[in-house]
Amino acid sequence: MKIINPATEAVVAEVEFADAAEVDRAVERAGQAYASWRQVAPGDRARLLRRFADLVDAHGEELARLEVTNSGHTIGNARWEAGNVRDVLHFYAGAPERNHGKQIPVPGGVDVTFQEPLGVVGVIVPWNFPMVVMTWAVAPALAAGNTVVVKPAEWTPLTAVRLAELALAAGLPEGVFQVLPGEGEVAGARLVEHPDVAKIVFTGSTEVGKLIAAKAAGQVKRVTLELGGKSANIIFADSDLDKAAKTAPYAVFDNSGQDCCARSRILVEQSVYEEFLEKLGAAVLNVKVGDPLDESTEMGPLISAEHLERVRGFVEAPHLQGACPDGPGYWFPPTVLTSRVTDRAFTEEIFGPVVSVVPFSGEAEAVKIANDTPYGLSGSIWTRDVGRALRVARAVEAGNLSVNSHSSVRYWTPFGGFKQSGLGRELGPDALDAFTETKNVFISWE
Ligand code: NAD
Repeated sequence: MKIINPATEAVVAEVEFADAAEVDRAVERAGQAYASWRQVAPGDRARLLRRFADLVDAHGEELARLEVTNSGHTIGNARWEAGNVRDVLHFYAGAPERNHGKQIPVPGGVDVTFQEPLGVVGVIVPWNFPMVVMTWAVAPALAAGNTVVVKPAEWTPLTAVRLAELALAAGLPEGVFQVLPGEGEVAGARLVEHPDVAKIVFTGSTEVGKLIAAKAAGQVKRVTLELGGKSANIIFADSDLDKAAKTAPYAVFDNSGQDCCARSRILVEQSVYEEFLEKLGAAVLNVKVGDPLDESTEMGPLISAEHLERVRGFVEAPHLQGACPDGPGYWFPPTVLTSRVTDRAFTEEIFGPVVSVVPFSGEAEAVKIANDTPYGLSGSIWTRDVGRALRVARAVEAGNLSVNSHSSVRYWTPFGGFKQSGLGRELGPDALDAFTETKNVFISWE
């Protein structure tokens, strides 16, 4: 596979893809490695993960630049991502030594629970956040004593491959963490079908997620699914309108809108609709689009020519568009649409720098519009009324909401979707639950 820099269209690497037989060999190696990895003393497993995190830190700039070249992320974002990989590894490095079970009072003996690892975990990753999405699964899976086989997205395998090299250099035993670039329908599908893969963590489109869940059901294979989104940014008239408008573009156009948490539907209370639209327009025209290696760039290109065409297909009569380079590279300008709630652009995940704005009247209508979607990943609520903030946050059907903020991801807290945005949670203090089985043992004293 030729790996293309989406900002220049230059070929930056060629990567060999694994076929099904290679996946089988990797799963076998992972199975062999599991037998000893799960026996490694928790303190030693913790030390290896910390050493891995330290190597990621030492190579942070290199990883960030590799991500810019492969994925078109801005250098600022890519640095944050490399830092997030390091932090998530450190966070879960603390887990092996705190992977406690319970002692439960029962008559006639002692009852204890153990949190047992699952075995070989398959991780299937999308192209939009290659490093971080992979690490959110790999770090807790390894901490819990599993071994992992990762299949990165076709277009963006480079940072995953580099991270696997760094893991080996940190001293993680061979076979504990493997990365196999390959096609979804070949290598990905084989991981899902393989009887020795105990669990699949899939992040990607809802369409493929459903397919994987159905296949996994045949073996009652464990799955975590992190899927698409069409999140709402709800602006009430009593909010700090300047701040809400200034930040709204970054809640959509970050990573060029290729973000599952993008607040791509802006709902504005009718009485401030025109005023907000004007402020939003000014902020959108200020978004700096261009060379992702330039420190001042705020938005880079889309991932591919194919994806660019798809995004273009959603935009007919934009209310407003910013500027972007002509090419080479897969550029699309930040775009604002004033929509009806039935428009395709308002209901479907575009995964590009396109935001749709609609007015609403009153709290109930805002919640109704926000929930009128099969998705439920994230969203924002802007108001100064704390009661309203809480009422609306409780009423919106989504896994990650923020009030007067657009932040979705903090590795200390759980992340995941309601409805067709996913199944299960990643990150936060309970992520190890997704990579362990509870075993109950009763010891008779009679
Ligand atoms: P995609 O579903 O096309 O591909 C995701 C991964 O699945 C890739 O590695 C691909 O090769 C693989 N794949 C494809 N077909 C497969 C099959 N039949 N069997 C096994 N694996 C297969 O998604 P994408 O276009 O790479 O990513 C964009 C989507 O990911 C968006 O919908 C976005 O919202 C979602 N996403 C969600 C989250 C989240 O945490 N909820 C995070 C990032 C991206």
